[in-house]
Amino acid sequence: MPAIRKRSTGKNASFGYKIARLKIGTSKRMFKIHEDLLCERSPYFGGYLQPQRKEIQGDCPICIDELKTGVKELTYCTRCGGNFHSECIENLRKHSLLPLRCPLCRRSCSNHFRNSGDSSKSFPELQAADFAKYHEWLYSGTIGCDDSVYEEDFKPLVSAYLFSLEVEDRRFGTAILQAMLEVYKDEGLYPEQDAIALAYDVDASHEQSAGLRRLRTFLIDTYLAAAKSTWFEDEDWHKYPQEFLRDFSVAMLMQHPRKNKWNIDTWKAKLEVEEEDEDENDTSDAEQFDTDTDE
Ligand SMILES: [Zn+2]
Ligand SMILES: [Zn+2]
Repeated sequence: MPAIRKRSTGKNASFGYKIARLKIGTSKRMFKIHEDLLCERSPYFGGYLQPQRKEIQGDCPICIDELKTGVKELTYCTRCGGNFHSECIENLRKHSLLPLRCPLCRRSCSNHFRNSGDSSKSFPELQAADFAKYHEWLYSGTIGCDDSVYEEDFKPLVSAYLFSLEVEDRRFGTAILQAMLEVYKDEGLYPEQDAIALAYDVDASHEQSAGLRRLRTFLIDTYLAAAKSTWFEDEDWHKYPQEFLRDFSVAMLMQHPRKNKWNIDTWKAKLEVEEEDEDENDTSDAEQFDTDTDE
């Protein structure tokens, strides 16, 4: 499988010093990841791992140069959350005779700017397989599509998309949708009942989210473009959630308002023919008809 959608991380991309060790889901696997990289992309992880840190924007209070991730190493004060260039803080430390104080909040922070050990945290509510995809995408800009993706169809990708909603990284969600398009284009695969069911069976907290609507609209559009009537006649058809069938029906009607060229005269004529046939061939039905009209 070719790599999908390379994301340029820039030649001087810098991911920070600190490594977070994360236990995701019930798997024993421990993920190591640059904490700054993760927290910059995901407000969800940022809230757990760097709760004090302010958004990275504006200029460094020391050198008045722009603060920008991926250009110069950044650090922050764990007391007030203010961001700085690491280099500027180190220069301050070297040239100061007194213990270092934060240039913003003036509190003593001699140890706070340094990498004071790696952080570790468990996220039992997340899935390791989803995080593995996210991890790969954060570093390489690609969505790994191993063979299991093909065997299991779109389900792992739908699952990864739902993960992107959970960790609040819309760009990762976009990358997942792009990966789905590539799989569809390259392999002719489309989301099957299991994948659709997953997209429609999520807990109520996401029920109204724009991100979830984006996924469902994407799946409906894919079906509009690719679905065959036989998909709804196979033995698994009942696995499609009712809500999906409703959304799909609505979308079809919107797209093809008069596809069948239905008109009232066609059915009138059809029923008249049937009525004549019944009169001729089926006396019991005719008797039933007579009884009804007598009442
Ligand atoms: Zn600076
Ligand atoms: Zn401070």
